Amino acid sequence: MPFQTYQDLGHGITRIDTAMVREELAACYLLQSNDEFAIIETGTHNTVPIILSLLESRGIDRCAVRYVIPTHVHLDHAGGVGGLMEALPEATLLVHPRGARHMIDPSKLKAGATAVYGEKLFAEIYGDILPVEESRVRTMNDGDKAQVGERCLVFYDTPGHARHHFCVHDPASGGIFTGDTFGLSYPPLTTASGPFIMPTTTPVQFDPPALKASIEKLLSLNPERMYLTHYGVVENPQALGERLVPMVDDYVALAEKAAGYAKADTLENALMTAMRDYLFGKVREHGCELPDAELDAVLGMDIKLNSQGLAVWLGNRQSA
Ligand SMILES: [Zn+2]
Repeated sequence: MPFQTYQDLGHGITRIDTAMVREELAACYLLQSNDEFAIIETGTHNTVPIILSLLESRGIDRCAVRYVIPTHVHLDHAGGVGGLMEALPEATLLVHPRGARHMIDPSKLKAGATAVYGEKLFAEIYGDILPVEESRVRTMNDGDKAQVGERCLVFYDTPGHARHHFCVHDPASGGIFTGDTFGLSYPPLTTASGPFIMPTTTPVQFDPPALKASIEKLLSLNPERMYLTHYGVVENPQALGERLVPMVDDYVALAEKAAGYAKADTLENALMTAMRDYLFGKVREHGCELPDAELDAVLGMDIKLNSQGLAVWLGNRQSA
């Protein structure tokens, strides 16, 4: 199917491409029930006009958006929160208790991202990060619920990728908005064997046992589908989970092996080589025949982020 910025997924859910870096990298979702709406994930500040133009094209009153819901405060998920909240006067921000203060005062997030990317690239990728008034923020604990029209969304604490991460169960669609907890699955890697799924270990809070427990917790809700941020809806989550959970252990094993022979200054490179070899092997096993250069284009950024995250995890474990 040709690329679409907005894709109607049924069940009153529309997938929106955030236009971050490249097509089909990061998604956010518009959810509707009767005449009420919620936006789950926001992309970056540069995504805000894309979301607003969907509302406008559908004749949706901006005041009908009740909630803005980032699954966690990494910037590809929550970078657009402040800008979106400014444009949606009736919306309440629903966020994990550990993420709320960074939405109210995003200066740390901004400083962190600017330190990594530099001013210019930060502006290009993320645009800006605006603060949210504290009175418009509601923190959601494990088991908390929010009503959108006739839909009741249920929030589950899901640490492992990040400690400020929750997932959102939507019984009306039988789906869960999984953020980064249920891994990544990029459409170009889908084959006759189905979507290719892989865990993500973005810095700085990767916690393997917690991540596996969170994935099991999601599967115990017996979902029919998962709405991934990276990227789009995937069906048959139980089978995907069976592939995903052992890959968390594989990541840990390859990190430990790399740590065994690499000096500290070359650890990240060793991890990147091991991660690339591992993921390319898995993708080939899955039946994907894209040339290596295209695989690098699809997976390169995650290979780097995963390696950085594993290096941080190894370092924390050593100092613990
Ligand atoms: Zn993340």
